[in-house]
Amino acid sequence: MGEYAELRDLCAERGVLWCFSGALLDPSKPGDRLSSVVAAAFSEHESDLIVERVRRAQRANAQEGKAHGKVPFGYRAVRDPDTGKIEKRVPDEKQAPIVREVVRRVLDGEPLYALARELNDRGVSTSKQSKGWTAASLSAMVKRPTYAGLRTHLGVVVGTGKWEPLISVEEHEQIVALMSDPRRLTHHGVEPQYLLTGIAVCGECGGRIRRRRNGRYSKRTGDGSERTFYEYSSYSCFEGGCVSRRQHLVDALVREAVLQRLENIVSVDELADPEQKEAQKAARDLRKRLDDAVAEFARGDLTAARLAHAEKLLLPEIEKHERRAQKIVPPEVQRLIGPNARSQWQAMSMVDRRMVIRSLVSVTILKDRPRREFNPKSVAIKLI
Ligand SMILES: [Zn+2]
Repeated sequence: MGEYAELRDLCAERGVLWCFSGALLDPSKPGDRLSSVVAAAFSEHESDLIVERVRRAQRANAQEGKAHGKVPFGYRAVRDPDTGKIEKRVPDEKQAPIVREVVRRVLDGEPLYALARELNDRGVSTSKQSKGWTAASLSAMVKRPTYAGLRTHLGVVVGTGKWEPLISVEEHEQIVALMSDPRRLTHHGVEPQYLLTGIAVCGECGGRIRRRRNGRYSKRTGDGSERTFYEYSSYSCFEGGCVSRRQHLVDALVREAVLQRLENIVSVDELADPEQKEAQKAARDLRKRLDDAVAEFARGDLTAARLAHAEKLLLPEIEKHERRAQKIVPPEVQRLIGPNARSQWQAMSMVDRRMVIRSLVSVTILKDRPRREFNPKSVAIKLI
């Protein structure tokens, strides 16, 4: 209704007529205004009802533990032979053992990237045919509550589903704990895997920061083979190693800075930088000049040729400024605006998270006395 009113007033002011449902309306005439406001109110109400109906259906499905949405890898849909509608989901004979195997091996500490490579080598197809397995897709897969028979609604577990679980709830909880452990990042192995590599810079030489593993040691695993482990990983200067800081502490610090900022804003406009605000203003001013020219033309003070000339001059300028004003906020950042920032962040891929960091902050790792406890002030985070 808000948009309707704005559009109606604008059209009334400019003498633009409306044609819909076979009727021609003049938004400046009282009778036509009334018909259009009634139509708009009905449309709004109709759309509200649809939204509510869809939500109610999803909620009801969730409460009944009915499967909802796409059938995940590991299951297949059983359809009613008459209607073709999906009746239930059952474990897929080929895919379900893969899910169980991957979960077990991840819990045994096998790195995701190695598992992904092996599955690709074995020719195990993913649910999406186009790309093969990656560490990221496996990570997303093993964390899915569905496999433990848990039903989620809007990303939150709401109860037990009616389908057969592939793994136990305990296994699911172990996996989630394991995957959210920041140190676990050392087990991945596909770029980009780290939040700040190539983004953070060294406070000493201005060089880029890379990730390094420290405290190397070897250990025999269950099958007798020897494997190398690292105690922790750090971000350090690529150039000369002038600075070094524990990776998970820096990641947490930067993540908090970004999420706290995004949680506390309500609209994208608050993120616009001064340059963009300037461009918005320039575009508005030029539009105003063009409007004035149109008004002059309407009064007969300007010839059509002069107006066309003004338009030819002003429009490209306006478009240029509008483009600059618009580049504003990437969709990855927009997703995070508001109170759901944290849950959205959790669901994001590393590529998207890095995109968010890049567009919002600059991170500089400053020199600090060696071997002292982590000092949050030794990482400079500047909003950009
Ligand atoms: Zn350096």
